[in-house]
Amino acid sequence: MLARIVNSLPFGLSQQITKLYFQALVRNQREAHSAIEHLQYRTMDVKILPALQDNYMYLIVDKATKEAAIVDPVDPNSVLQAVQEQGVNLTTVLTTHHHWDHAGGNADLVKQHPGLQVYGGDDRIGALTNKVQHNTQFNIGHLNVQCLFTPCHTTGHICYFVSAPEEGNETAVFTGDTLFLGGCGRFFEGTADQMYQALINILSGLPEQTKVFCGHEYTLQNLKFASYVEPTNEEIKKKMEWSQNMRQKGKPTVPSTIAEEKSYNPFMRVTQPSIMKFAKSNDAVETMKVIRQHKDNFKA
Ligand SMILES: [Zn+2]
Repeated sequence: MLARIVNSLPFGLSQQITKLYFQALVRNQREAHSAIEHLQYRTMDVKILPALQDNYMYLIVDKATKEAAIVDPVDPNSVLQAVQEQGVNLTTVLTTHHHWDHAGGNADLVKQHPGLQVYGGDDRIGALTNKVQHNTQFNIGHLNVQCLFTPCHTTGHICYFVSAPEEGNETAVFTGDTLFLGGCGRFFEGTADQMYQALINILSGLPEQTKVFCGHEYTLQNLKFASYVEPTNEEIKKKMEWSQNMRQKGKPTVPSTIAEEKSYNPFMRVTQPSIMKFAKSNDAVETMKVIRQHKDNFKA
C-alpha cells in the first residue's frame, strides 16, 4: 500500500519517504535478517550480505584477479567491511533499479570509496556513472557481465548475468526485484506483457543451472502463494519444506537456479496449462496479469 502511494509522489519526495520508512522498519531490529553466506565457486565467489529488513546485497569476486563488484549496496558500511575482510579490490557497483532499498547507498559508498564505476539502467539511480542498455557487456576482472533490460517493476530495471569466458563454468544472474525465488516484483511502472518478456523470453532462456540471486528474502511468502495457485505441484512442497528449514536456521534461501524457478514459480510457468487454468485464460500474457493481481491481493 505504502509503495503504491509513494510511487505516485515526485521522485525526491518519494525517495525521502522510502528512506524514513526503511529506517523505521529496522530501528528495532537487533540482528540481520539472515546470516552472511560466503559461496565459493570455481571462477567466482559470491558473498551474500543481508541488509535492512529483507534485502540482499551481493559481493561478486573474480577469483583470478580479486576484482569485485557489489550489487545494490544499500548498506555501504557492511559492504566496505566485507571488502576489507576479503581483501578484494572493489571497482564496480551493479544497480538493479532506482528504488531506495537498492540504490539508496550508492552516493554514500562512492563518497567512502571514490572511483567506483556505478552501472544501472535508470537516470534516477544515485551516483550513476555508466548507463547501460540491453546486452551491454563489461568485465569484473576476467568475469563477463551481460546486462539484461527487464522493465516492469520499474521502467529502468536491469538484471546482471555473470559468467566466466571458459565453457563449463558456473553462471549467475542477479535479478533485483524482477525475479524472486518463487515469485516476481510488483508491476509498479510496467505491464504484464513486459514481465512476460522479462521472465519467459529473457530469464527463462538463460542456462538452466544459472544461479538466481534476487533482491529480497521473500521465498516463503512467495511459495505460499505458489501452492495456492498450484496445490498439487510437488516441487513447491519440496522447496517450501527446504526453505522453512533454512529460515529456521537464519540462513538465506538464495540462490536457486533457473531450472528450479521453472519448476515451482507460477510467474515463470504462465505458459503451463495448470497456471492458465487457474487464471481462466488461454493466453500467457493475460495469465501473467491475472496471477499478479491475485498475488497483490493474497494474504499468506
Ligand atoms: Zn523495488
